[in-house]
Amino acid sequence: MARNTSMKDELFNKIRNNFIPYNATLILTNHCNQDCIYCYLGVDRKKADCFLSFQQIYSILYQLVEIGSYKIEFTGGEPLLYPYFKEVYKTSRKLGFEITMTTNGTLFDNYIASLLADIGVSKIRFSISGATAKTHDSITRYEGAFDKAFHWIKWFKKKECNVTVNYVVLSCNLHEIERAKKLFDVEKIPISFCEVLVPSFSGHKESKKFMLNQEEIVKMLSTLNKCGIKSKKVEYAPICSAGRKQH
Ligand code: SF4
Repeated sequence: MARNTSMKDELFNKIRNNFIPYNATLILTNHCNQDCIYCYLGVDRKKADCFLSFQQIYSILYQLVEIGSYKIEFTGGEPLLYPYFKEVYKTSRKLGFEITMTTNGTLFDNYIASLLADIGVSKIRFSISGATAKTHDSITRYEGAFDKAFHWIKWFKKKECNVTVNYVVLSCNLHEIERAKKLFDVEKIPISFCEVLVPSFSGHKESKKFMLNQEEIVKMLSTLNKCGIKSKKVEYAPICSAGRKQH
């Protein structure tokens, strides 16, 4: 154990001292099939088509290998809408990257889900905005979003993949925190809660009205305490589910 710990320390010192970006985030596309009321993209997500070509991504992957990166997070928009997702995913795995994927969970099919599970995905993080279909679907403005995401969350869990849920806390879903914690506890799936919204890339202030006010933040913290989430862990995770404080 002592040997493992010192090897780990040694590795982290090497990474830090040599400024190695061991963890990279690739925003594959700004295209999304959902239309979340708090979205930071600030464009018409359903029409957006801004993405790097496969050749450009390929070149980035090789550069990352050269500078010592070994973890990649795929995010977006919705990464499954990136036209070359399968190719990028397979290539990244061949190059030895550990992969985390952040998704809204509505666009899997058996083929793509099996590919991720079989070739190996280190973590799949699902963005959830409610403990019920009614709340989640109204926030994402996508009918059926909750049921689809919940189905695939359970599917990946069954395949023994590392699945986590990120609950975006807003004034309109604050009341479902406890229910969400219970729901995912039953499935033995870790859930984190984040209340800080990423400002919109276009500068519009639409999402501001859904942000928690001071009183609601106190309520959220008290509910989290009640749910047994006592430590306040501040972590900057990549968008889309993140860039927010997580508890
Ligand atoms: S917040 Fe994420 S899931 Fe929602 S519309 Fe924006 S990119 Fe899509």
